[in-house]
Amino acid sequence: MNHQPFEKWIFEEDDLTPKELELFSEHLEECNECTGLRASLHQVEQRLRVAPILAPSPGFADRWKASLAERTAREQQRQVRKFLTTLFLSGGLLFVLIFSQLLLTSSPTDWLITGIQFTTLSVLRFNQLPQVIMTFLQILPPAIPIVVWVFATVTFSLLGILWAGTIWRLSTRGVHNL
Ligand SMILES: [Zn+2]
Repeated sequence: MNHQPFEKWIFEEDDLTPKELELFSEHLEECNECTGLRASLHQVEQRLRVAPILAPSPGFADRWKASLAERTAREQQRQVRKFLTTLFLSGGLLFVLIFSQLLLTSSPTDWLITGIQFTTLSVLRFNQLPQVIMTFLQILPPAIPIVVWVFATVTFSLLGILWAGTIWRLSTRGVHNL
């Protein structure tokens, strides 16, 4: 069977005259090869029409990078907020624990005396602050059990580690980590 010019017409179907179209469809009816070729071509055309929709729109990479920077900044803000919240909650909890411990183990008068002693010593020996603090610690032990001091030390150590860890994470956190 002679497939020309029909095989060629498959690729220029839109440009055919009514007479040519008639001959063309007559040939297709009796030729499986050309019908198959035409079907394949239509499939390819179909995919080409869908492709532009699937392909990224112009400037997509730039916008994606911009939104990535935005997301990185948001994530860092979130980390800082989380860190500060943890810090304040821990500090608040520690304060409440020490304060309630003081209230339970000492009278407000003791408190007042200790406070006045500490303030007086601080004012008198401002240049000897380390000794003042040591004195303060020596005044306080009857009021605050060693457990509280251990707890306070551990808590502040943990906060220090948490702080260092957060700073480290924020400073080393790269775009690739997201
Ligand atoms: Zn044919």
